[in-house]
Amino acid sequence: MKYIGAHVSSSGGLEKAVFRAFQLNATAFSFFTKNQLQWSASPLNAINIDNFKKACIKYNFFFEKILPHSSYLINLGHPDNDLLKKSRIAFIQEIKRCDDLGLYYLNFHPGSHLNKISETDCLLRISESINIALEKTNNITAVIENTAGQGTNVGYCFEHLYEIINQVDDKSRIGVCLDTCHLFSSGYDLRTKENCQNTFNKFFNLIGLKYLKGLHLNDSKRDFNSRVDRHENLGLGYIGTLVFEWIIKNKSFSNIPMILETSNSLMWAEEISWLKSLQSKDNIVL
Ligand SMILES: [Zn+2]
Ligand SMILES: [Zn+2]
Repeated sequence: MKYIGAHVSSSGGLEKAVFRAFQLNATAFSFFTKNQLQWSASPLNAINIDNFKKACIKYNFFFEKILPHSSYLINLGHPDNDLLKKSRIAFIQEIKRCDDLGLYYLNFHPGSHLNKISETDCLLRISESINIALEKTNNITAVIENTAGQGTNVGYCFEHLYEIINQVDDKSRIGVCLDTCHLFSSGYDLRTKENCQNTFNKFFNLIGLKYLKGLHLNDSKRDFNSRVDRHENLGLGYIGTLVFEWIIKNKSFSNIPMILETSNSLMWAEEISWLKSLQSKDNIVL
């Protein structure tokens, strides 16, 4: 079975995010556990936690199908040591929030070198950041997202993700989330069945399916290899619908959360319904 949802707003309380996902008829979802544009947040109290957990149970969401997203401010590969430390503290706090909520994952963007250090040094800093964070926390798996390669972001190729994972000590708590818009923008084609097979086979061969903990299903407003990160609704961008059908019909992607972050949220219910409708058709094997 495929678990499909969207990145829903958590404004008004974390339990509201659960209800919004339910209203979309989703079976997975993503959300921010705090304001993603602020460094600090008031700690979660027992009532917040209880309300969230009760809502997940009431609306039938499995905790392992929820893929919370960390703040955009965090740069785990920051070239400046003070700001790196600030990012590491914020990342650890976010992991702890996820653990308090009974979740399994925290999805994050790897980081940016800001033209001050090499990509290799930046990747090393990211691995060190993850090692420190995993050492100081429990349970949660840190899920690295591939990037579009915009600006000075690292993580735009599978070799970068491999490099980060390779230097993480606890391999049982590290994973990957692949974003289809970011793949396409960073030069991994997804427009034909052969493209899809080639792209995902590269990932499976270098990193491995066991590390794949989630997918972000987005079309792209920009053309192939643009290295620009602009999400579009499914079928309305340069990628087209084939990859989404290919993913849904592929057994390799069963049981992981698949999250829409498409630009027009008014289309999410329809997109989820369309993706779900593809499931009943015969599976194709990679
Ligand atoms: Zn993301
Ligand atoms: Zn994006």
